[in-house]
Formats: sequence, C-alpha cells, structure tokens
Amino acid sequence: MSFWPSVIVATPSHSGLVAGLSYQSEAALAPGTLVRVPLGAREVLGLVWDCPAAPPADLNLAQAKAVAVVFDELAPLGARWRQLIQFTAQYYQRSVGEVALAALPAPLRELSPVQLARRLKKIRVDPVPVSSPSGSDPHCFADSLSPQQRQVLAALPGAQAPVLLFGATGSGKTEVYLRASEQVLLGPTSDATPTQVLVMVPEINLTPQLEARFRARFEPLLGAGALVCLHSGMTAAQRLSCWLAAHTGRARIVLGTRMAVFASLPGLRLIVVDEEHDPSYKSQEGARYSARDLAVYRAKIESEALSPARCQVLLGSATPSLESWHAAERGRYVRLSMPERVGGGALARLRLLDMQQQPRGTVLAAPLVAAMAERVARGEQCLVLLNRRGYAPVLSCHACDWKSACPHCSAYRVFHKIDRSLRCHHCGVGERVPRACPDCGNLDIAPMGHGTEQIEEQLAGLLADVRRPDGAAARVARIDADSTRARGSLTAQLADLHSGAVDVLVGTQMIAKGHDFRRITLVACVNADSGLFASDYRAPERLFALLMQAGGRAGRDAAHSAASEMWVQTWYPQHPLFVNLKRHDYPAFAAAQLAERLAAGMPPHGHQALLRADARSQQAAQAFLSAAAARAAELTEQQSIALYPAVPLTIQRVANVERAQLLVESDSRAALQRFLAAWAPLLLACRKLPQARGLIRFAIDVDPLTI
Ligand code: ADP
Ligand code: ZN
Ligand code: ZN
Repeated sequence: MSFWPSVIVATPSHSGLVAGLSYQSEAALAPGTLVRVPLGAREVLGLVWDCPAAPPADLNLAQAKAVAVVFDELAPLGARWRQLIQFTAQYYQRSVGEVALAALPAPLRELSPVQLARRLKKIRVDPVPVSSPSGSDPHCFADSLSPQQRQVLAALPGAQAPVLLFGATGSGKTEVYLRASEQVLLGPTSDATPTQVLVMVPEINLTPQLEARFRARFEPLLGAGALVCLHSGMTAAQRLSCWLAAHTGRARIVLGTRMAVFASLPGLRLIVVDEEHDPSYKSQEGARYSARDLAVYRAKIESEALSPARCQVLLGSATPSLESWHAAERGRYVRLSMPERVGGGALARLRLLDMQQQPRGTVLAAPLVAAMAERVARGEQCLVLLNRRGYAPVLSCHACDWKSACPHCSAYRVFHKIDRSLRCHHCGVGERVPRACPDCGNLDIAPMGHGTEQIEEQLAGLLADVRRPDGAAARVARIDADSTRARGSLTAQLADLHSGAVDVLVGTQMIAKGHDFRRITLVACVNADSGLFASDYRAPERLFALLMQAGGRAGRDAAHSAASEMWVQTWYPQHPLFVNLKRHDYPAFAAAQLAERLAAGMPPHGHQALLRADARSQQAAQAFLSAAAARAAELTEQQSIALYPAVPLTIQRVANVERAQLLVESDSRAALQRFLAAWAPLLLACRKLPQARGLIRFAIDVDPLTI
C-alpha cells in the first residue's frame, strides 16, 4: 500500500475529551472538509480537523482506517469557524467533535454526497433579483433618523471594540441594527466574498417581527433568499437549506437564536445581539456556552483576520447585563447611548402599590383594577404580568395539611383549572385533580396562591361591567406557555392584541419582552417580591430588567405615552431597587449592584464555574463532587482557586434524579481556565469510585447564570 496522508477527524465522541481520531485518506484533505468515517461498527459524519504533513509518530498506519466518504462539493468550513469551535470546546470544557458536530445541521449526518450536491445546486440556481442599491426603500426613514440614532450610527464605524448599544425601550434600536447592516451589506468591499450579517434574538417568539422588518428593508435590494433564519422552531430540512445558504454566501443575513452564533458565515462583517442581557443566550445543556460571549469572541477573531477591515459586534439592551456594563465602564466596550424614546415619548411612570395597606388576601388591589377599568373605557389596553402559569401553584387540604407534591420531584404540582389537572412543571407529569384529599378523604381541597389562569379569571369577573368606547364588553386574554402550545397560536393571540380585539392581556414574562405593542398604556406586575430576596445573587438584576422591559411595553405610541403607567404590587415599596426603577435609572442600579458584587467577589469581579452532578441518590452525587474536590487539591492551579462544599440544588430532585453541585471561584479567568483544563480529565476517574455508584452524569458549567 502506498503512503496515504493521515488526517485528524473530529467525531462526536462520548469520552468528552478526545479531540480527534486519525484516519487515512487517498488525497490530502483540507481542514474543515466534511467526511464520513468508520467509528466502531458505525459510519459517522466527521470534520477534518488537521492534515499534518507527516503522520503522528504514535499512529499505526497499518491500523488507521480510511476515510469512507469525502463531501468535496461543499467548501471546507473556514479557519475562523474552526477557531470558534476550538475555543468553545476549550473554554466550556467539551470535546471539539461534540461542539463541531452539534453546530452542523442534523440532516448532514444522513445525507450522501450526491444528495448534498443536489441541495447545493438548488440553492445556487434560485434567482436573485437585485435592484440597484440606490433604488428607494419604502421602509427607510431616509431623513428621519432621530438625532440620537444619527449620533450612534456616526460613531459606529470608528468603534474599535465591541459596541454596547444602551438604548431605552422604544429608542429605535432596531433601526440602528438595520442601518448598521445596510452599511455592511451595501457598502464597498475589498474582496470577492459577499458580506454577511448575523442578527441574534433571545427567543424564537421574537424572530417573526424582526424578520419582517429585515425582509422589508433588504429583499428589495438583495433579492429573495438574502435572509435566512436559524432556530429550533424550524424543521431539520429547513435548517439544512438555510445553513447551506449561509455557508455558500448566498444568504447575506442570518437571523436566529443562540444556536445561530455557530452558523458558517464566510463573509461575516457584523454581529448584532439584541436584548444582550437575556439569560436565554446561555445554553443549559451540552456545551453550556454563552452565545453573547461567543459573538464577542467571534467578532474579535474575524476582525484580526480582516484587519484593517473589521467585523463589528453590537450588543443592544435597555438593561445590559452587568458583565457588559462593567466592560463598558472599564473601556473594554464602547458604550453608545440612546436614552430617549423615538418621538419624545415618556417612559411609563412607576406606581408602587403597598400590599400592606390592602385588605388581607388581596390578589389584585382595588385601585389597580379601577385604573385598568378606566383605561379600557378609554379604548386603551393593559398588560398584566405574573411569572407563574397555571391556576394555583399548590393544592392543599385544610384538614390534614396534604399538599400536591410531585412524587418524582422536590416540588409541588401546579393546579390547572382549565383541564382540571395537577401538573409538575419540572418533570411534566400530570394527572386529574383528585375529588377528595388522597390522604384523609376530606372533600375540601383548595388552591393556594395564584397563577395566570386565576388572574385571567378574576379580571374577567372584575371588569365584566366595563364597556369599551365601541360599547363592547371588555375582553381579557392570556398568553403563557400553556396558551401557546399549538403552532401559530402565539402569532394569532398577538394579532388579537394588535388589532384591538383584546383589552387586557395577562401573561408570563413571554409578553414582557421586545414586542412593539402600540396601544398599551398600563402595565401591572402582580407579584414582584420573589425577585427581591431570592438566594440567587442575580435575581435583582433579572427583576430590574424584567420590570424595565415590561414597563417598556407601555406608551410606545407617543400620543398616549404621557399617561402611561407601570403598577407594581409589593410588600416592600421602600426597597432600593424600586428607587432606581422609578427614575428609570439603570446606570445607578448597575453601579449599586456592581459595588455589591465587588464586595462579595462575585461576577463580573470574580469568575465562577460549577461542577454539577446528577445521581440516583443525593449521597452519590455529593460523594462524586467531594472526590472531585479532593483530586483538585493535587493541582498546582488550586492555589488561586476557591472550592466550595458540594450542596444540593434548590430543587434537589427532578424526575427522580438527585442533583448537586460544587462551586469553583477565582479572581482570575485565566487561572480558572487552567484549573478546569487540568481538573476535567481527573473527573473521569472520580466517576468510577465505589462511593459515586449511582452517578448518572456530570457536567461543568463555566460562567453559570444560576448558582
Ligand atoms: P427598541 O428596540 O429600541 O425598543 P424599536 O426599534 O422597536 O425600539 O422602535 C420603536 C418604534 O419606533 C418602532 O415602531 C419603530 O418603527 C419606530 N421608529 C424607530 N426609529 C424611528 C425614526 N427614526 N422615526 C420614526 N419612527 C421610528
Ligand atoms: Zn387531607
Ligand atoms: Zn415532577
């Protein structure tokens, strides 16, 4: 046999640490080439990671198997894309193969080269009608940019670092994204690669409205097919064709959720991260990456390669993450502010409703209900926010104190009145509500607390006599994960609100984000207090962002904005968080929070990672973590690291799996990274210890969002 070049192929490996396996190939293969290779009894999709000039010394050429299939119709994945994958794997302690293969659309795993070639051909031949860039765009506010939008856009080209666009709700951030994209997509380029823009949103729900605006603006200029979406709501086949369109450069704009950060974009020049503070950008499974942080990294490596041209990253929010805010304070990010709403509309005025002054057992305070009735009678709309779906969080027996605990989780099952079920929101198990107490037979079992269903029901009753200006009765509707399960139902429900068919909308945080509602003048938050005293140190940051976002839904139409209000029911109206909220003063809130975090050595002043363990018993989970902590003592890096004792998670058991975690902290990100890299291989041995029997899985979470 003549000498075959050896290639290192990244394959999905289960050990979690193998970077790649050696294969032989008839011809040298460029790194980034997609291949199929034998792996055990199977043949799997792989990615050529390296094609060394000489085979590795330890490679037994006689035993190295041959690459089975080469997808040479497809251009290899680019060097910067691979660098992004490599960084992600390293930083989040996963294997390159796992991260790389997860970043590719699933159907690639089954496709033959012939099928793939056919797909590619289809993408290439679709017509691309392009009108001249000077052609008029009906959706363009040509000369009507607000002064602050103009200022931001003028400053953008000169920004040599990630840009934090700190813009109030309704300040017109989307228009800035559109204009910045325009500069990139229609501007002059030095090379032949078509320029591309990546736009990320935190939730699938928010893609349709942004997609519509980008399509309206760019399809007349760049042709149909210039914009593709990438999110988990698409079918596998759609995802594949959109992915291919991005990879071939045919798609110029990719709009998607966090997974889109891994799209192959050979001409990438701009990344927009809308609502950059949103926790949904952090993945909670597999490689627990932060798409926002990776966007910043990706823009950096692209810029290095493009120099002196740049790939810019634009992080937009009315309530930036404290990480990004801190980076801007330190001068690592460029902060561009748009404090005013377009058209000079005012932000909703905060009204705190002291629940201590209300009659016992009040769920919706009378002054709030009266204010809502007044708005509806004037033809305005109200939004009522409660972060708890279902009718009541617990069902309880007054005779024997039975509660609707979930048999599989350390949590209560929630009472859903609509289908008379008790459902666990953690494991999903549901059953019909019992007629009598399962323990003592008492017939009088009652709901405790309240959820969105109950608020909807109560409001429908309380507003029953209210008439809208057209004489019709007030209509109350609800939007939450339960009401929007069916495909397309969210769009339909939102359309009812936009058209004015609905007067009062009750919902979870789903309705607080991003939507551009025009006639809402009152937003009410039924119960904000859980966020004030939660054990999670990020809870105030999240509550502040949620309330600012929710308040931002009101008064977006300047004609009504003067009278727009946000009502918050609270037992602690004196809480300092509300002082800054009342002034809409995010910078003051952030300064106070950052000072607290500095004193406690918390992120962004310190750096954290979690080792999480799932096991059949809490004892096994903790034994594994303790053994891991003991092994850490052998490592030199350990000196700059603090390891905390293993503890159960707040919700300790879910679906009969016991969960525990161990917190690792360091002042230095680099030291923490070195420590994790040395520690991770030792964990494999820990899982084999007899005291860890019953361990199901473990995972490292770098920069965790909840601890
Ligand atoms: P944000 O994302 O900052 O909350 P949006 O981008 O949704 O704000 O803009 C709020 C509203 O203002 C939208 O309806 C948008 O169409 C409108 N708008 C944005 N810029 C302008 C402008 N320069 N002139 C007039 N209207 C604008
Ligand atoms: Zn009972
Ligand atoms: Zn459960």
